Amino acid sequence: MFSYSDLSQLFKDGSALAKKIKSQELNQVLLSYQSQMMDMNAEIADLRQKLAAYESQKNLSEKVILEEGIIKIDNSKQRYCPRCWGKDRKLNPVAISLTDGQIVSWCPACGSHTVLESEDAASLINKIQN
Ligand SMILES: [Zn+2]
Repeated sequence: MFSYSDLSQLFKDGSALAKKIKSQELNQVLLSYQSQMMDMNAEIADLRQKLAAYESQKNLSEKVILEEGIIKIDNSKQRYCPRCWGKDRKLNPVAISLTDGQIVSWCPACGSHTVLESEDAASLINKIQN
């Protein structure tokens, strides 16, 4: 497979040859091909960037677990907003509080409250609070 710089060199060589044989037409064709190659190279760079972002998001999605109604990753104590994750695939940390025997998470980013589903609120809050 040719690298971008190999192809650039081929176009330079071709252009030099076109000048040597005094073919304006050949030179124009080569310049047009070179321009198309540069466009394709920019498109490839853009697609590589999108693929990297997609793979990064995919790896993250594989680690995300919905537990007691909110998001956790691996064995971290930090919990994240299920609404923000569901909507934008963003991990926004939630604040956890114990109110009237219920554990409630609150997301500062979207403002949503989630009552955690738990039979033993005291042990759950120990598990998830830092
Ligand atoms: Zn949120």
